[in-house]
Amino acid sequence: MAIYKPETVECNGETFHVYITQEELQERVSELGEELSRHYEGRNPIFIGVLNGAYIFLSDLMRHVEISCEVDFLKLSSYGDEKVSSGEVTDLKDIDADIEDRNVILVEDIVDTGLSMKYIVEKLQKKKPASIETITLLHKTEATRHDVQLDYVGFRIPALFVLGYGLDYAQEGRNLAQIYILDGE
Ligand code: 5GP
Ligand code: MG
Ligand code: MG
Repeated sequence: MAIYKPETVECNGETFHVYITQEELQERVSELGEELSRHYEGRNPIFIGVLNGAYIFLSDLMRHVEISCEVDFLKLSSYGDEKVSSGEVTDLKDIDADIEDRNVILVEDIVDTGLSMKYIVEKLQKKKPASIETITLLHKTEATRHDVQLDYVGFRIPALFVLGYGLDYAQEGRNLAQIYILDGE
């Protein structure tokens, strides 16, 4: 089986190297799936993934969730094609599911400043779910300035730009099976 996981990768003229390996990702994602399975047993939770970045994490995560559950997506844009956040959140697509009285698990690829997560949680709260918990694969702890509730975190990382495993740089690099960081960082 061919898996795209080079040691280094060129993306938009810049060089990145491996930061979190495929093995480390798979192990942590399966632990998180088991934890969610225990916590949500009998509650038929609905996973809400934030497109585009969270799609690979969410699809791997769900395959480790051994209880009945559902999935839906919303789409936001906050980064444009740059390596720093624009500081603005734009809605591109809302969820289709009715989440009133449901147990919601919001799934993000990465929490940087925390603006997107805060914005989405406030938006979903208005739909009156029974509960909302959040899970993010990556958390740039030192970059987070907004008050966000993070219930499950895959990896805490420094405030440096990363790509791969669903995360892009100007739309490229999502297909990499590992997480990469800019060379020299
Ligand atoms: P925040 O609103 O927390 O500042 O940023 C959240 C969004 O910005 C993430 O969902 C992700 O789409 C994008 N983002 C933040 N940091 C990175 C990064 O290091 N690499 C990539 N590819 N996207 C990032
Ligand atoms: Mg995201
Ligand atoms: Mg992006």
